[in-house]
Amino acid sequence: MTNHLLALRDRQVLWHPCTQMKDHETFPIIPIKQGQGVWLEDFEGNRYLDAISSWWVNLFGHANPIINQALKDQLDTLEHVIFAGFSHEAAILLAEKLVEVTPDGLKRCFLADNGSAAVEVALKMSFHYWRNLGQINKTKFITLENSYHGETIGALAVGNVALYKQTYAPLLMEVISVPSPDCYACETGETWYDYSVRQFAFMEQALQEHAEHVCAVIVEPLVQCAGNMRMYDPIYLTLLREACDRYQVHLIADEVAVGFGRTGTLFACEQANISPDFMCLSKGLTGGYLPLSAVMTTDQVYQAFYADYQTMSAFLHSHSYTGNALACRAGVTTLAIFEQQQVLAHNHHLAQAMRKVAACFQEHPNVAEVRQTGMILAIELVKNKYSRQVFPWQERRGYRVYQQALAQGVLLRPLGNVIYFMPPYVITEEELALLAKVTWQSLVLAVKD
Ligand code: PMP
Repeated sequence: MTNHLLALRDRQVLWHPCTQMKDHETFPIIPIKQGQGVWLEDFEGNRYLDAISSWWVNLFGHANPIINQALKDQLDTLEHVIFAGFSHEAAILLAEKLVEVTPDGLKRCFLADNGSAAVEVALKMSFHYWRNLGQINKTKFITLENSYHGETIGALAVGNVALYKQTYAPLLMEVISVPSPDCYACETGETWYDYSVRQFAFMEQALQEHAEHVCAVIVEPLVQCAGNMRMYDPIYLTLLREACDRYQVHLIADEVAVGFGRTGTLFACEQANISPDFMCLSKGLTGGYLPLSAVMTTDQVYQAFYADYQTMSAFLHSHSYTGNALACRAGVTTLAIFEQQQVLAHNHHLAQAMRKVAACFQEHPNVAEVRQTGMILAIELVKNKYSRQVFPWQERRGYRVYQQALAQGVLLRPLGNVIYFMPPYVITEEELALLAKVTWQSLVLAVKD
């Protein structure tokens, strides 16, 4: 089987996500035969370094022997069982572990099967909580500009990236949108801390005006990932937690992308020393193996639904694959790896190595900023470094970087013109150096003419 043949067959029957399919007339899709560690290999033996962890899900490498073994064992025992009225060991173990490792106060785990579904669950649960308490005026959500929370209708509504949202605007519930603490916009000489504090004034004002009608504020802690990897200081989350308490509004931390060590701590909220009312988890939860998500919440929320059947106050949200046994086993094994292999300490070291290899980009005339939070590093590509004038989007400079890098065996997937590294945690320093070298060469070619 050749790449070419498979790509042709693919084009006959498949429709890929986040893709203008016509692009594949001239730039064929790449069929992958196998993966090993940070490497993917196609049907002709070409290898690609997966620098974006296959959409931020993979933590410990492709075909990880520990997760593989755990899944083989699980497969011989139980693949799946209805999760209403029934349970199984992997789900129980996973929930116990998540309660242990997430911030204090998060004592309940509700399972779903992808990040968007987790966001939907958190939104509905928050709304329903207030309703069960008789607070029927609370129907709205506050969200940050430039945020992304998924692409199902509810999750899309609380997100704010125009590219994904604009077309569907007439279908979406209205939300209260507040300027982001995104520190790319801070003044010269102003610290991230100061800028994040300054931007919090908008949130305070929105809460003051609307709290009576607001169920929850939803944020991506520390990094707005799909919104071009824009970053802010933990102080914003500290202030937000305090304000949500003061105004009696829930705080939903969407850690779908930043959870499981991406920002340096197991969860980003830890850096602000806060505990949200809901925490959405997915992506790295299964080490990048299987679709699964979890919404962690408090006993207080749980108790508002816990009553005699006749009160009709139960939370009736279900997906067929809720609590899938294979996915839960992958989750349990992923969390065991964190415990057994001192992953966070290792990541600290890797993050420093990543900073070092990417330092040179700061000097490039088309780079406005190199920013980093833990294991996420972003390079902001612009037409003019000093004015920060952007390249016209029609020129697709980021896409050119993507094409150039693939030709040199590296899978990057820039967000617009923002190139980023978000590699699996098993990447070596040599591979990081290779990644930086290929990215540099690709960037140089992509900004020519
Ligand atoms: N929330 C955040 C912060 C995300 O980054 C994403 C996915 N990129 C989602 C939610 C949606 O997750 P999924 O793609 O699994 O639906």
